[in-house]
Amino acid sequence: MKAESNNLHILFFPHLAHGHTIPALDMVKLFAFRGLKTTIITTPVNASYISKTIQRTKSFGLEIDVRTIRFPAVEVGLPEGYEHAEFVRNDVEMLNKFLQGLALLQEPIEKILQELRPDCLVSDITYPWTTDAAAKFGIPSLIFHGSSFFTSCTGACIRQYLSGGHSFSSEPEHFVLPNLPGNIQFSSKNLSSPSDIETLITRLIKQSIQAQGESFGMIFNSFYELEREYVDYYRKTLGHRAWSIGPVSLCNKDMEDKAGRGKDASMDEHLCLRWLSSRKPNSVIYVSFGSVANFADSQIQEIAKGLDHSGQEFIWVVNNCGGSQKDGKDWLPEGFEERIEGRGLVIRGWAPQLLILEHAAIGGFVTHCGWNSTLEGITAGVPMVTWPLELDQFYNEKLVTQVLKIGVTIGETKHGAHIESEALEKAVSRIMEGEEAEEMRKKAKALGEMARKAVEEGGSSYSDLSSLIQELKLLRQGST
Ligand code: UDP
Repeated sequence: MKAESNNLHILFFPHLAHGHTIPALDMVKLFAFRGLKTTIITTPVNASYISKTIQRTKSFGLEIDVRTIRFPAVEVGLPEGYEHAEFVRNDVEMLNKFLQGLALLQEPIEKILQELRPDCLVSDITYPWTTDAAAKFGIPSLIFHGSSFFTSCTGACIRQYLSGGHSFSSEPEHFVLPNLPGNIQFSSKNLSSPSDIETLITRLIKQSIQAQGESFGMIFNSFYELEREYVDYYRKTLGHRAWSIGPVSLCNKDMEDKAGRGKDASMDEHLCLRWLSSRKPNSVIYVSFGSVANFADSQIQEIAKGLDHSGQEFIWVVNNCGGSQKDGKDWLPEGFEERIEGRGLVIRGWAPQLLILEHAAIGGFVTHCGWNSTLEGITAGVPMVTWPLELDQFYNEKLVTQVLKIGVTIGETKHGAHIESEALEKAVSRIMEGEEAEEMRKKAKALGEMARKAVEEGGSSYSDLSSLIQELKLLRQGST
């Protein structure tokens, strides 16, 4: 560990969702590894998900603290304890209440800012009010974006397009967004029909982007070499201050760190790794849709059928938030588990994803394109089948399939469009077998190498974090 600062104190306030808390905690560790004092603010339920990691990291002598604040669930009409996105994420009314609860956190956050007077607040893009709250106390704030530069550039180009009085509904089905580099094809039908949940979340993000000008800048979990054209576009053409410090997951060096992200795994990681170790390199597909996906039972059946008929070896994580048959038995086609015995592993609940993806036996990833999963797949150097479900996932898919060319799309998935088992079978075979698969694998492995280099001393992400710390130090010197 290298002390690069005179103990700057950075306060982190992640969104109450695994897809945000997991990378935020990695980020906290990265800052702490550089000798900074860090404090993470969260609510009691969320604290329980991170407490083991915090204790473990503290035991290495790193300065990491947790401050808990109460989430006003009852005040906004939610049951007590409903303070995590996974409880509300698939119900628009509950999500709306949850977002109202998040807005009520401004007061306790301001109290903490006043008391601790940190050198910087790093808050999530889903809290548009934090820039103002920090400014009240003269504290610089950074916004953690949580997605790719590509997605941010796409969002900016969409806003430009709409503010020019245009409408997607009048465009042809295959549509190239003006100004966005790379001649990327979008579906105008998809762009013009956001779901209610997407509208709610996009509104918040838009407000944060408006507050961005008053903030110190944005932090991204990405690396320059991955999406250089879009990093340059974001910084130079759009004129935003941004630091790219990822892949942050690479700060997890040993098995315990890698296994301890998010919830406790539903399958013993040793068992899982032993199973993988009995397979050939690049022979197993990992299938997972992140922490909040919710498929219809009929879709789950179709996935089961597709994996079965593909003849491939696989690990399939079923974490169907809010689904009617969470425990699994009834949605599986009859005889499924017997048929796949020895060839497939079903994990019901939470998987040690990082450990699985990094295993040499994994040769492909069927993903919903959440940014963390996408970047973890890239870092592991595996080709992907892209199956986006909502929000930025549709843009991350474009990055994977059209810019990086390390994946193939499953097809049209907007608004829960039903995917037939044959489509899965075909897509999986395209990333696992033949010349096209080899070509994608080669590119993916090269990107994985670049990711590792980016976070090593002297690499692009390492240097970006160093310059951010340096700027914060100068800011503090200037204010004293
Ligand atoms: N994850 C995991 N085990 C699971 C499901 C998810 O470790 O069974 C982790 C995954 O590695 C990633 C995060 O949870 O870091 C999910 O974030 P992502 O942005 O991919 O998707 P979201 O859950 O936000 O849709």
